[in-house]
Amino acid sequence: MKSFLSIKDLSVQEIYSILDLAEQLDRHPRPEILSGKIIGSLFFEPSTRTRLSFISAAYRVGAKVIGFDSPDASSIKKGESLRDTIKMVEAYTDAIVMRHSIEGAAKFAAEISRVPILNAGDGANEHPSQTLLDVYTIKKQLGTLENLKVAFVGDMKYGRTVHSLVKALSNFRCSFYFVAPEIIQLPSYLVRELKERGIPYQLLQNYEEILPQIDVLYMTRIQRERFENQEDFQRVSGIYKISKDKILGKCKEEMIILHPLPRVDEIAIDLDDTKHALYFQQAANGIPVRSALFAVALGAKKLDIPEQAEKNRVDSFEKSRCRNMMCVTNYEETDNKVIRTSYGDYCYYCGKEIQL
Ligand code: ASP
Ligand code: ASP
Repeated sequence: MKSFLSIKDLSVQEIYSILDLAEQLDRHPRPEILSGKIIGSLFFEPSTRTRLSFISAAYRVGAKVIGFDSPDASSIKKGESLRDTIKMVEAYTDAIVMRHSIEGAAKFAAEISRVPILNAGDGANEHPSQTLLDVYTIKKQLGTLENLKVAFVGDMKYGRTVHSLVKALSNFRCSFYFVAPEIIQLPSYLVRELKERGIPYQLLQNYEEILPQIDVLYMTRIQRERFENQEDFQRVSGIYKISKDKILGKCKEEMIILHPLPRVDEIAIDLDDTKHALYFQQAANGIPVRSALFAVALGAKKLDIPEQAEKNRVDSFEKSRCRNMMCVTNYEETDNKVIRTSYGDYCYYCGKEIQL
């Protein structure tokens, strides 16, 4: 593994190997393995948790971190392209962690950069390191990733953590429930993918009926900042709020509640001290998982697994552009690459379906 851009880049074996390495680092910290290395932390979009977690994870394995935490602090405000920013920062660092509001930005950066890029969230697209800490938490608590019933509740449309976690758990024979109002249900390209792969799923508006069967309840924040109009946001804001009286005695004894945080009002604080509440532990697990990612990306640890061949064909289409207005192809000069699968064509950068 060089760059880490999408959870889809990892095979099941690779996911397990990274989780194992994270567990080792959790048990036996190795503050020396990346000493002398410099990590660039480029947050073009605000973040508290993910940024602090990546920085802390880097320090824990001995690396130093430079960077910025808002585009206001960089030359982007002066109109510098992402291409030029990456070309410059690669000379100063051994790896770059980046968060950007444009979808496919990390994938584009990885094409340009000589140093590995770790995607810390690209718009509404993906948040793959969050997914690794989600699966790390699930495996640690439930002992397995296989055959679980997972309910996602809240914002399925803009919730990038949902998109990445579904892609990961699709490899482990899990079944999914997506609970959301229609206007923020799961994007059609993901629904289609689940259908094509024969993965069991249901799109629902309420969670009460399915609560007794599920193993993981993954709550999410409605992503206010990504709505095109605020009236739509007002219609769905505050729609799902769980609390002790709605959960206790109505779910499996071992069911866990996860949330990528920050929470707004989706989970009442009276649930925090119950055995189901795993969200703070989940956030803490970000440290060993991200330390493991750095160690692998910088070659300090080798994953003992064969290289994966690109399974689908990738073609360039000079004239056709991705229609997703938030895609990096609409902001930077790219090759307009398209991934061609047996069930449709997808933008190489943002992963959205493309009509050629
Ligand atoms: N977006 C959230 C924040 O700003 C969480 C994160 O950083 O991932 O804290
Ligand atoms: N922290 C997550 C993210 O950055 C979830 C959220 O912000 O609601 O996507």
